[in-house]
Amino acid sequence: MKEEELLSNKLLDVIESCGVSRRDFLKYSAAMAALFGISEFEFATKVVQAMESASKKPPVIWLEGQDCAGCTISFTQILNPPASSIILDKISLRYHETVMAGAGHLAEKVYHDTVKEGGYVLIVEGSVPSADDRFCMVGGRPFKTILEEAAQKAGAIIAVGACATYGGIPAATPSKGIGLNKALPGKTVINLPTCPVHPDHLAGTVLYFLTTGKVPPLDNVGRPLIYYAESIHDNCRRRAHFDENHFLEDWNDPGQKEWCMLHKGCKGTMTNSDCPIRRWNDGISFCIDCGAPCMGCAQPEFYQEMSPLYTAESIISKRILAMKEAGSFKRENS
Ligand code: SF4
Repeated sequence: MKEEELLSNKLLDVIESCGVSRRDFLKYSAAMAALFGISEFEFATKVVQAMESASKKPPVIWLEGQDCAGCTISFTQILNPPASSIILDKISLRYHETVMAGAGHLAEKVYHDTVKEGGYVLIVEGSVPSADDRFCMVGGRPFKTILEEAAQKAGAIIAVGACATYGGIPAATPSKGIGLNKALPGKTVINLPTCPVHPDHLAGTVLYFLTTGKVPPLDNVGRPLIYYAESIHDNCRRRAHFDENHFLEDWNDPGQKEWCMLHKGCKGTMTNSDCPIRRWNDGISFCIDCGAPCMGCAQPEFYQEMSPLYTAESIISKRILAMKEAGSFKRENS
């Protein structure tokens, strides 16, 4: 038997023992290998190595600043993909305010011991107040101080959700929340925006780091190209109506049901994410297919320049409409 077959069989045995069918895993491997730009065999090898060295995997610290814990909910309810769930089960999540069992001084001690050790994956959810530290205090200390401290010895830093990446909704509040792009200048941060983070984006990014030891290729605003290279608009099934100037004006007219929602505030033309292909809730649907315009939550301009969300009166909507009317529509960002 070839080394390749031996390795695959060994891996598939482990996967099956974890309750995942071979068929599901092979389907997932093919998709992940294509995303990582490696062969399916190479991907399987890396997964085996990652599983075998489970005890050496970097610990994870998950900090929460000005957040609603929506990203935590999105990620902990992950149903798929199976392989990443298994591998992520084996990582050592040392500190996470919402899901950890410990509390008080004991939990804080675990955090400090892990920071001292270094080399952990730092996942950050929520923004940092820039108006006054007192808007977000954890364990009696400013969140900003904790973030700067934890960032120093982190092996990789991942910002999840609109708030942690670029400020999100808290940027529009008196706390003047900022994202890690501003709170940690000079640090390489992997940005996984959308509100909340897509569980596949986070699982795949952690998996990429665990199996390659590297940060995935990023775009000019720090997002992994494997997930954010194309715009929502490029893959939207209402796109033909945009090109034909069929814009939904009346929600009650069944004839307009499938028309482009540009006039209802859709920001899909200016937003990069693979939502229309990957979809949400285990691949069931996404905002536009549910009849809601894209609100641009994967962009640095979210929320301030994207609101109001459901009319075409935001700064971004006005820019898109002007370009469309002038016949010079093109992306300006990313
Ligand atoms: Fe789809 Fe929005 Fe583009 Fe219209 S503007 S085609 S609804 S992404």
